[in-house]
Amino acid sequence: MGPARKRQLSRLGIETIGDLLLLSPREYHDRRVITPLSELVPGRHANVSGEIVSSGFSGSSRGRRRFQAVLRGNTGELRLTFFNFRYISDRLIPGTRVMASGRVEYFGGLSMVHPELLFLDGEQRETELVLPVYPLTQGMTQTTMRKLVRNALDLCSEKIPEILPEGVLNSMGWESRRDAVRALHFPRDPEEGESARRVLALEEFFVLQSLLQHVRARAAARLGIPMPCGPDGLEPLLASLPFDLTGAQKRALSEIGDDMAGGAPMRRLLQGDVGSGKTVVAAGACFICSRSGHQSVIVAPTEVLASQHYRNLSGILEPLGISCGLLTGGTGRAERKRVHGSLEDGSLEVLTGTHAVFEENVVIPRMGLCIIDEQHKFGVVQRDRLVSAREPGPHFMLMSATPIPRTLAMCLYGDLDLTVIDEMPPGRGRTVTRIMDRDDRGRVYGFLLERLSRGERAYVVYPLREASEELDLMDATSAFGVLEKGPLGKYGVGLLTGAMQSEEKLAVTGRFVSGEIAVLVSTTVVEVGLDVPSATVMVIAHADRFGLSQLHQLRGRIGRGEGDSWCFLMRDSSAGQEGRRRLEILASTDDGFRIAEQDLRLRGPGEVAGTRQHGMPVFRTASLTGDADLLARAAALASGQDSWDELRDEYRRRFGSAGVPEL
Ligand code: ADP
Ligand code: MG
Repeated sequence: MGPARKRQLSRLGIETIGDLLLLSPREYHDRRVITPLSELVPGRHANVSGEIVSSGFSGSSRGRRRFQAVLRGNTGELRLTFFNFRYISDRLIPGTRVMASGRVEYFGGLSMVHPELLFLDGEQRETELVLPVYPLTQGMTQTTMRKLVRNALDLCSEKIPEILPEGVLNSMGWESRRDAVRALHFPRDPEEGESARRVLALEEFFVLQSLLQHVRARAAARLGIPMPCGPDGLEPLLASLPFDLTGAQKRALSEIGDDMAGGAPMRRLLQGDVGSGKTVVAAGACFICSRSGHQSVIVAPTEVLASQHYRNLSGILEPLGISCGLLTGGTGRAERKRVHGSLEDGSLEVLTGTHAVFEENVVIPRMGLCIIDEQHKFGVVQRDRLVSAREPGPHFMLMSATPIPRTLAMCLYGDLDLTVIDEMPPGRGRTVTRIMDRDDRGRVYGFLLERLSRGERAYVVYPLREASEELDLMDATSAFGVLEKGPLGKYGVGLLTGAMQSEEKLAVTGRFVSGEIAVLVSTTVVEVGLDVPSATVMVIAHADRFGLSQLHQLRGRIGRGEGDSWCFLMRDSSAGQEGRRRLEILASTDDGFRIAEQDLRLRGPGEVAGTRQHGMPVFRTASLTGDADLLARAAALASGQDSWDELRDEYRRRFGSAGVPEL
């Protein structure tokens, strides 16, 4: 095919014949079901059939020539309308028998505009009665796409390899993969098409799960650093805490303790909603590591969070005689030198930092534990490298406050064991969430002033950092200017955006933590981790612009103290249906997993907070919402055998070779 056609296919992610053969139809048009002409409903899709009784050009509509043909069937007539379709006029002549499919519209009487036509005279292949409807791109028609797929099938169907383990296809009612691929495109009926899609979806999940299982199996076979801690090993730490651990925290620590005591490196994902108390669990792991004479590293995504982790961890660990240090891009030269030195001589036991700790030539001679917090870009390849680059491999834990649906977790983190902290520490107030319209602004700010007068603090969040010409939205910087001069000014207003220098960011968060300023105007940079218990109010402007999971993350900044908190979602008058539904879901629940599940359903996997950057695999036939049963089956199949060697190339073809060469 020519370069233009190639470019079109490329826009659909199709680079090879294999890609084309796995292009999943969006739906099938079943032309075996004929709608009587007397039962047509405007706005609905229909198939009709009959004979053309008259046709011709009928003047022009806004400069476009209009060709119309009247189709007569047993129960009535229907007009078919075409614009600028010269060749059609030669074929739709009176006496021709056709089948037409399309949306019925009201267009000076009932009509179909540019229906798909099937000429009934002459031989018709039966398979053509059920037609695939593909996702298209500019310049491509269904007819062309069907032709391309048919050619590909005719050329290559003898060369379609089997991928699933033996017997699996049969168990799902298929003889061979070739049959399934053909039926995906040209099924006898839509049900057969769906059955083919399911077996190919299982296969797609299987290829991905095979990689994750392979990484998992290989890591499990590696030499680790056993750190036995015994049933009472954590006693000194627990005795020093001002609170009792929740059941979920205890369970997490016991799983982590078992992992770290074992002969292979720990590889675990610790998932817990904001405020569920992951920090103390991380401190427990560092404690175990220190006890065995090794060093721990905790990496956070931003300097603000690294500093906060450092404060919290050193607050817990230093009293127990464990030395802690902080290393970020902003660390001064003298301090940096001191930290490097004490890491090298082993006197520094727990290092907190940003990604810089990996990039600089920091030597950590006895690294026994690596904890990565909220770093979604740290994908399966980096995780694999972390343990495989060292002998013996350090224990590894990923922490995330982003609740994601189970199916998504299986695809992104299937190489890790999972611990979920599903219980909140006691004594938290409620967070009340209210959806407000523009007209309610006065009331919201009145309420905000009242809470501030009681010594409480507030976040005001905007989707944009600076004014934008295209979008008529208030932005954080302008809002800051306005609020600072208004009645909120006397409580102290600060601005936090992603574009600020890190010292500035640290300074303003510091002033908010200390209470010097009571209102923090910001963009979504406050999303992760910031912990200020006296912040009780959050106002989110243009809330319908944010994703559900993102709003949930933002809301997690409040409700961290004993009293109640309030989250106001300001809705634009222009908010669409979907935007409204999102806000209603958020107002109705604070269960992060339920919210993420809804987000996945409404917007697809790429949009669920934090997952876009992780290099989420793009599935062609499988759906994370509809095919959860297949995913579980694929994971079981993949763990039953290490078939990675045969699947490596298949994996690369499908999910891209980005960063997997050594696997
Ligand atoms: P996150 O999971 O969001 O990182 P943190 O670890 O920051 O949560 O904990 C949130 C707050 O809850 C902290 O102030 C912490 O001291 C407190 N906390 C943690 N565990 C408990 C507990 N079991 N009982 C009471 N308070 C707790
Ligand atoms: Mg945290």
